[in-house]
Amino acid sequence: MFNKEEFIKSMEIILRAEKAKTLDEAEEQERWNALSKTIIHMITPRWKETTENYHRSKQAYYFSAEFLMGRALSNNLMNLGIDDKVRKSLRELNIDLNKLERIEEDAGLGNGGLGRLAACFMDSSATLNLPVTGYGIRYRYGIFKQRFEEGFQVEEGDNWMRYGDPWSIRREEESVMVSFHGQQVKAIPYDTPIIGYQTKSINTLRLWQAEATEEFNYPLFNQQQYDEAVRKKNRAEDISKVLYPNDSNTEGKKLRLKQQYFFVSASLQDLVSKYREKFGENFEHFSRDHAIQLNDTHPVVAIPELMRILLDELHMPWKKAWKIVVETFSYTNHTTLAEALEKWDIGLFSQILPRIYEIVVEIHRRFEEELISLGYSQEGVQPMRIICHGQIHMAWLAIVGSHTVNGVAQIHTEILKNRELRHWYKLYPQKFQNKTNGITPRRWLALCNRELASLITELLGDEGWIVDLKRIKKLEKYAQDPRVLKRFLEIKQWKKKQLAEYIEKREGIVLDTQSIFDIQIKRLHEYKRQLLKAFHILDLYFQLKENPEKEIPPITFIFGAKAAPGYYIAKGIIKYMNEIAKLINGDEEIEGKLKVVFVENYNVSYGEYLFPGADLSEQISTAGKEASGTGNMKFMLNGAPTLGTYDGANVEIIQEAGKENNYIFGATVEELEILGHHYNPKEYYKTVPGLKRVMDTLIDGTFDDGGTGMFQEIYKSLLEGAHWQIADQYFILKDFEDYRQVYQRVLEEYQDRILWAKKCWMNICNAGKFSSDRTVQEYAKEIWHIKKQN
Ligand SMILES: *Cc1c(COP(=O)(O)O)cnc(C)c1O
Repeated sequence: MFNKEEFIKSMEIILRAEKAKTLDEAEEQERWNALSKTIIHMITPRWKETTENYHRSKQAYYFSAEFLMGRALSNNLMNLGIDDKVRKSLRELNIDLNKLERIEEDAGLGNGGLGRLAACFMDSSATLNLPVTGYGIRYRYGIFKQRFEEGFQVEEGDNWMRYGDPWSIRREEESVMVSFHGQQVKAIPYDTPIIGYQTKSINTLRLWQAEATEEFNYPLFNQQQYDEAVRKKNRAEDISKVLYPNDSNTEGKKLRLKQQYFFVSASLQDLVSKYREKFGENFEHFSRDHAIQLNDTHPVVAIPELMRILLDELHMPWKKAWKIVVETFSYTNHTTLAEALEKWDIGLFSQILPRIYEIVVEIHRRFEEELISLGYSQEGVQPMRIICHGQIHMAWLAIVGSHTVNGVAQIHTEILKNRELRHWYKLYPQKFQNKTNGITPRRWLALCNRELASLITELLGDEGWIVDLKRIKKLEKYAQDPRVLKRFLEIKQWKKKQLAEYIEKREGIVLDTQSIFDIQIKRLHEYKRQLLKAFHILDLYFQLKENPEKEIPPITFIFGAKAAPGYYIAKGIIKYMNEIAKLINGDEEIEGKLKVVFVENYNVSYGEYLFPGADLSEQISTAGKEASGTGNMKFMLNGAPTLGTYDGANVEIIQEAGKENNYIFGATVEELEILGHHYNPKEYYKTVPGLKRVMDTLIDGTFDDGGTGMFQEIYKSLLEGAHWQIADQYFILKDFEDYRQVYQRVLEEYQDRILWAKKCWMNICNAGKFSSDRTVQEYAKEIWHIKKQN
């Protein structure tokens, strides 16, 4: 299949046509571009074949406002099985493939876990030959780039297409128009191939870009009113200009609503027009042909939009249309945080989407009528009203308009059923399902940890585990084999060295690779409790200052996290942690004992170094707050025990890998529920040894917050709260002592290297459940009802 001469020739043709250069003359980024386009060239027939093949059966469509894809080149070469051949061919021409791979910018069209989940699902669907297409937005700027200035987070626009976007194909001919009140914009699809791992199937990610219907207004331009002449163009392009950098927090902005409606309307029009080509005007079988998954509430406006199309354009009666809608959609809930549940003011909503608003009102009216007819009282209806206090509750609309609602880990689904969505569960018990999240073992092991992958392949005898991760369970027997465990430790040491080199290059900080690499990487949020970790590090530091003889193994604490630009407390926590790093790293007495590194701009590509290089995975969210987590799974698969709370998928990780191979601490959901509003963090502040000392660094001048008052604000949130929230609402003070104790156990057990390696090994062997292949197969079988093609 791979022909060296043809491959190089193709690169040369592309470079000559586009840059008027030879391979020799081209810059690295131009070579990267040409290489990527060569791969597109190579796979085009197969891509087309897959599309046509899928067209014959029922298909699923994954609607998501975010796809956090990361880099494509290295992954695609691996999945195609041509990485070694390409590397060798390029080396003969004195070109280093590694350099080309690393020049690629991350496609960071997502915030964190939710967007990365969508990306893992794309990889799994293609690998499993499942007819699944992703639909989303082609943001001109993805998640911001983060820098630190004096320890403060500074954001910069993410110009990810700087060197072009060779991985997508613009399909002008499949453009559609999207109408808002008083504005019409063109939606142009860009298709990216999703290359499955060593399969013929190539799936599609279709992202929409917003453009104006006319480039500029000619008469205005002639009158030299240049700004006015391009005003419409700019207003249109604004829609797909930037990703909202919020994670688990709603942003009630007009533009955000426009973004949502824009991609959803374009996607549905696309599906409807293709259906028409296939079946004509008879839409009764639409749901037999389409399953649409709504990734959180961001695409939920699809429910009234499909109603609009069926009612207004296809002249279907309401009841018939509604049946089709409910049979088509399913909805994934990603959070229990109240502030993250999306609501739209009816004023704004009806102004931008008047017809859609009318339809929502009618859905609301009919739903209330139905509840009343079922015997609900007015009070009984109240907590389920789709329109309430002048707002549209998007999660409620999603539940009413979908046939299935799912949570993303067992504990999360139980919390939804018993607490957050209990009224809904009572009404629609048959709608609720659990689908525990997963990660793709291709990117998160085979690609980022080739050394460990080779060892696994060697021990199992073949590479089948890469597409059937449950098979690695067979390696459990080697947990008693010191030779294998030693080889694991050598690999871990090598990955730590690679990570240290990368950190030195990026951050200019030298790490001791003999120290414990204790890593917490995830979005900055109070519920994720980076602050608990910060307090613990400071406590260790003070203990060492007081008692320099205290024996502890050297530890490197590594953090990575972006804070939403408007999230004041989160930004304060970043500054605080950078101050802690400065204090500890600058203290000669502590040299060789503790080090703290907060890496800049944590993203998918950085993660590909961090997960394999970790000795310990920090998953310390307040119990009940992390819906699932997927970072926890990436660490597990790369052989790092979890230090965590009973929260999200941690519960299942421990179920699979054993309590004895992980470290659990902290209050449980039940305990916190009982404690509730009786919680008094001041008691802990006063009585837990050392806690006051570390917390007072927020107010006693130990650290400088540049006069912003941020540290004082954090202190206040922990001890006093505010009128709208209780003090220390995430129970940091309550869990501090337990965390410190369990950490002491980590330090003791880490020193018995073989015992530790065994724990790591047991985590790897039992990570099979957390492959996104398993997750996607469950969606396919139990929600979408689609079948593998081939
Ligand atoms: C996996 C991943 C996440 C999710 O991490 P959690 O710890 O589950 O919140 C966020 N960002 C990136 C870049 C990731 O790869």
